[in-house]
Amino acid sequence: MNYLPSSNRYEIGRYRRTGRSGLHLPEISLGLWHNFGGVDVLETQRAMVRFAFDQGITHFDLANNYGPPPGSAEENFKQLLDSDLRPFRDELVISTKAGYRMWPGPYGEWGSRKYLISSCDQSLTRMGLDYVDIFYSHRPDPNTPLEETMGALDQLVRSGKALYVGISSYSAEQTKEAAAILKALGTPCLIHQPVYNILNRWIEDGLTDVLEQEGIGCIPFCPLAQGLLTNRYLERIPEDSRAAKSHGFLQASEVERQQVRIQALAAVAAGRGVSLAQLALQWVLRKPVITSALIGASSVKQIEENLAALGGEALTSDELAAIDAACAL
Ligand code: NDP
Repeated sequence: MNYLPSSNRYEIGRYRRTGRSGLHLPEISLGLWHNFGGVDVLETQRAMVRFAFDQGITHFDLANNYGPPPGSAEENFKQLLDSDLRPFRDELVISTKAGYRMWPGPYGEWGSRKYLISSCDQSLTRMGLDYVDIFYSHRPDPNTPLEETMGALDQLVRSGKALYVGISSYSAEQTKEAAAILKALGTPCLIHQPVYNILNRWIEDGLTDVLEQEGIGCIPFCPLAQGLLTNRYLERIPEDSRAAKSHGFLQASEVERQQVRIQALAAVAAGRGVSLAQLALQWVLRKPVITSALIGASSVKQIEENLAALGGEALTSDELAAIDAACAL
């Protein structure tokens, strides 16, 4: 049967303006890095994407290399568009990226015009799209002039293959420079995608100031520290978890290393009457410079729990202090 999205999705959904642009993003967006590859079950992916859209999540984040195997998340997303979401294309913000190794040889990674333009073409083919809403430079390239990388992003917008452009994991200084180049080209930098969560706060050391000054949005990835900031690892490493999977990016040693902090943070969450995942998301979204928290998930239940974090009371100064104290353990 054809998929019909929930009719009240925009009454439930909560949105924020992306920097000083005209584009709004949902407070929680869904990323397809893990659990959407060729090794994963398509029906579970379909259930998650349907549920997300039903709840007003309009933004889905991909990259050329998501899988495994690389490229398969975009291919699977094409299938989900074909079966469910394509009639709603104008209600979706779909992003992809290029920067990490995607094919052999000198043109298959980093930030050259050669790589970015051909990778975008490949991504559009894999997803069966005419354009993506946001195309990112996935990482700064120390060996390619920033003018070339930003010029390629500008070219993608001018050729109609992307509506907006963004950068990921650029430092404060690199972001300032990239924003100036893009502004001069007439294609403003829409958004920055950095890692940011309770356990990793590097963006507070200069980057958020630049984003505020430049009117660039911010969509933190790994707001749950790949699952560390959830109830997933409070007792053990479950067999179906990212840390237990051979292709999972989260190492068991990291679970071990963070255990004492996670336990303390879980106690703060319990004191507030929320789950650790909900606390972590409320913490990431506490500042106006943050546009959206970019989560991953392996089940509908996780997305449901995470969405329930939205709209809660602001964290008190005592709770913020307790979170800081837990991190200092
Ligand atoms: P998160 O920090 O949100 O971690 C997601 C994982 O946490 C899930 O896969 C799941 O683990 C677990 N989880 C989520 N919700 C719950 C819950 N309520 N209860 C228990 N466990 C939960 O983000 P990701 O690391 O997945 O990254 C999110 C997105 O960010 C990616 O999909 C990608 O789009 C983007 N990204 C971008 C990068 C970049 O360089 N620009 C780098 C990394 C990510 P499990 O699978 O074990 O169930």
